Parts: sequence; structure tokens; C-alpha cells
Amino acid sequence: MASDPAAAATETTRFDFLVVGGGSGGLAGARRASELGATTAVIESHRLGGTCVNVGCVPKKVMWNAAVHAEYLHDHSDYGFDVGNVRFSWETLKTKRDAYVSHLNRIYRNNLDKAKIQTIQGHARFTDDPEPTVEVSGRKYTAPHILIATGGQPSVLTEAEVPGASFGITSDGFFELETLPKRSVVVGAGYIAVEMAGILSTLGSKTSLIIRQSGVLRNFDSFISTNCTKELQNSGIDLWKNSQVKSVSKTDRGLEVTLVTKDPEKKNDEEKTSTIQEVDCLLWAIGRQPNISGLNISAMGVDMDERGHIIVDEFQNTSRPGIYAVGDVCGKALLTPVAIAAGRKLAHRLFEGKKDSKLDYSSIPTVVFSHPPIGTMGLTEDEAIKSWGKENVKIYKTSFTPMYHALTSRKSQCIMKLVCVGKEEKVGVCPPYNKLYIYCSHICLKFSTTRNLKRF
Ligand SMILES: Cc1cc2nc3c(=O)[nH]c(=O)nc-3n(C[C@H](O)[C@H](O)[C@H](O)COP(=O)(O)OP(=O)(O)OC[C@H]3O[C@@H](n4cnc5c(N)ncnc54)[C@H](O)[C@@H]3O)c2cc1C
Repeated sequence: MASDPAAAATETTRFDFLVVGGGSGGLAGARRASELGATTAVIESHRLGGTCVNVGCVPKKVMWNAAVHAEYLHDHSDYGFDVGNVRFSWETLKTKRDAYVSHLNRIYRNNLDKAKIQTIQGHARFTDDPEPTVEVSGRKYTAPHILIATGGQPSVLTEAEVPGASFGITSDGFFELETLPKRSVVVGAGYIAVEMAGILSTLGSKTSLIIRQSGVLRNFDSFISTNCTKELQNSGIDLWKNSQVKSVSKTDRGLEVTLVTKDPEKKNDEEKTSTIQEVDCLLWAIGRQPNISGLNISAMGVDMDERGHIIVDEFQNTSRPGIYAVGDVCGKALLTPVAIAAGRKLAHRLFEGKKDSKLDYSSIPTVVFSHPPIGTMGLTEDEAIKSWGKENVKIYKTSFTPMYHALTSRKSQCIMKLVCVGKEEKVGVCPPYNKLYIYCSHICLKFSTTRNLKRF
């Protein structure tokens, strides 16, 4: 029977729970709500799975795994293997990676269908109706509980800020590269920049990393930041400290990236200008911004910060009753397990009557897939001193060359640091936390008492 488009446009479909964004947080919240008996729909404008599955953690981890193979290949002869002339095909890897991601997209779709969650494909926009309502392709949807889980996107520079900036790609574009670039320039000092520069370099692209200050990962403990900066250089990445890209131009031999470098030690304002030539991949990894474009969120009276992140309280409530937000769009701890946990906790509060159900953001572990990888949790030394006073903070640290490298010409350092507080030397943000997981290469060690910590 043919449907009447005019009637469809005016009818509003109702659910118990309406989720905008089918990424980590949205899908987790929707599935948990459905398990708890709520009629649920998920609106997704692109591919199910969001950033993590399509252009984030998952394809990144595939690439990092490939890079780890390349690293070990360097060591094979030191361990007695003659592996001859090994060839690497980026094309094969990309084909298999893309197929895996598509497979995950299908699994996500099947899981929604099995859970009887309606999937609505298209871009969601809040309407001006008095009751919070969302419109997708001319159809309206509403629910007493609407979750915004629209995630984020890479920040880009305008042509006015850096002429030629648009010749570059972002982390999204990295996953579209059809071939391994011969010459790459990565701009940024955060974990995405570090990971992408590491992958490109390890797989054989001559890679430069441009950072504005003297070290990478500046939000991490200084021990991590310093060591990671050293390891990047040690691995052969051409690191440009205290540098910024001024302009980019296109020549018939690739991009020409012009930088200015200013030595902070020098009192005068002298700047040195340099050019990196024949670049076939310029990758901006200069931060991420919330995905709120076209959502018409301001019409809802939902408060946002100056960067457009949705402001939520500890229960993920926005300033508008009945509208909630989780994940990257809130701008706090931009990690998949955080978005997932926040989405699930919210579902338990809304549909299981668990009034106190909320995510504790205070001690979130994080991993950086650098070479070697990094795992960390809790306060940095500086933060601990600020919160607890220098006299109450005790630091344990060590660094050594792992035995694996006793035979290899390639060396890399293992470092460990524990930031402990008080007489009992507890680890973490506040007194109840006394557990720390340390990830060191492929080993995960769990320390749950301060006695273990002293064995370092
Ligand atoms: C390169 C990279 C590597 C990363 N690596 C890791 C890692 O190793 N570990 C980790 O924990 N995290 C990692 N992250 C971060 C992780 O991907 C995010 O924290 C996570 O995906 C956030 O989930 P989310 O639900 O908030 O948003 P997303 O997963 O981004 O999902 C949001 C969804 O909303 C959709 N959407 C947006 N606006 C609308 C609209 N108006 N209508 C309909 N749909 C809309 C988008 O298309 C998207 O699918 C990485 C991120 C990047 C970019």
C-alpha cells in the first residue's frame, strides 16, 4: 500500500527512548534500554558503529598491529631468522581492514534488529515543536527521553589560518589512503598524532611530526611525555619541536610544507623558516570538536560550552529535562569505553529505576598505541601534588631496556612510574582507589596493594 507522504510528514512516531547517533555511546545506551523494556530507536547519519568502528579505535588498531609486525621484522635477523626480502602491501591490508569494518557494521545492524531497536538512517535535527522532537528526512520522532550521542570530528584549519591547509587530510582521511605515502608530515602532539606518525613511519613512510612545544602528549605525566618524545625520535621520526605550519602549497612533485620554528630558550623573537618538500601526505591531528552541526540544538535550550560541547551534570542530564548527552559530544574523556559505560549507566537510571546510576569519571585508564605502547591511569605527578600537597606524594619510577632488546640492534626503553599518596601510599585519584593497572608492551600487570608497588 502506498503511503501518503504528506501524512507521514505530519505524524510523529513515539518511542520510550530516542537516540541520536549510532556510535559507541548511542548504541550501548540504546541496547541496554531495549533490554530493560524500552521501545527504542537509533538515528544514524553515516555508518553504524560511529568513530570507533569506522575511523577510530578499530581500523587504527589494525594499522598498529601491522606496524608491530614491521617492528618485529627488523629484529628477525638478530634472533637468527633469515626472512629474505619481505614486501608489504598497504593495499592488501586496507582491503582486509575495510572488509572487517564492513562486517562490524553489519553485526551492529543485526544486533539492533535482534533487539527490536528501530534504526533510522539520516541526519537528525531538532524541530521547533514544543515537545522535544527530532526530524529525519521529513519524518518526526519523539520520546520522553532523548539521548544525544553525536560524537566528534577532527578539527581543521581554515585557509585564512594556514593557506593551503585544505591540501591536508585528517585522521578520517588516513583511513581512506589507498597507498602508503612515501613522505608524510603529521601535525599535532596528542595521542592521535603520535599513533598515526608511529604507524606511518614504522610501515616505511618517511615521517615528520610537527609539534608546537617541546614534547608530545603534554596532558600526560611528564615522565610519559618525555619518554614518548624520545622514543619517537629514536624510532627515526623527524621531530620538529616548537614549530608550526605557516603555509602549504602544491607542486608537481607533491606538497611543500613551510614551517616556522621558534626556540623558546632564545630571548629574541627570531624565527627560522624551513620547508619540507615532496610530501604526499599531510595529516592534521590537531584536536577534535563536537558534532553538533545541523542538529539545531540551541533551539532546545540545551547549554553548551564555548567550544560547542554539550554541558551535562554527573547523571548525563543536559539543561533541558528529558534530553541527555553522552560520549565525545560532551568533551570529557574521549574514549569508547567511557561513552559505552555512560550510555549504559543512563539506561539503567531511566529504565530500571536505578536513581544513582552514573559513571565515575575519576579514574579512567587509557592506552596510547605508540611504539612502545603506553598505559596509564590516575593522577599525574603534578596533579597529585596539586591535590594532595608535595609532602604527601611519593613517587616510584624505573626505566630499563627490556630483555627482548638484549639481542636486537633496535632498542627501546620500558618505563614505569607510580604516583602514590599518603602514608598508605595509595594509587589513584581519591582514597578508595588503590588499584593500578600498568600496561607494558603485551604484558598487563595488576598491582592491588602498596606492598606490590614497592617491589619496583
Ligand atoms: C583516530 C582515532 C583513534 C581512536 N582510538 C581510540 C582507542 O584506541 N580507544 C578508545 O577508547 N577510543 C579511541 N578513539 C575515540 C573513540 O573513537 C571515541 O571516543 C568514541 O567513538 C566516542 O563515541 P561517541 O558515541 O561519543 O561518538 P561516535 O562514536 O563518534 O558516534 C557518533 C555518531 O553520531 C552520528 N551523528 C552525528 N551527528 C548526527 C546527527 N545529527 N544525526 C544522526 N547521526 C549523527 C555520527 O555519524 C556517528 O556515527 C579514537 C578516535 C579516533 C578519531
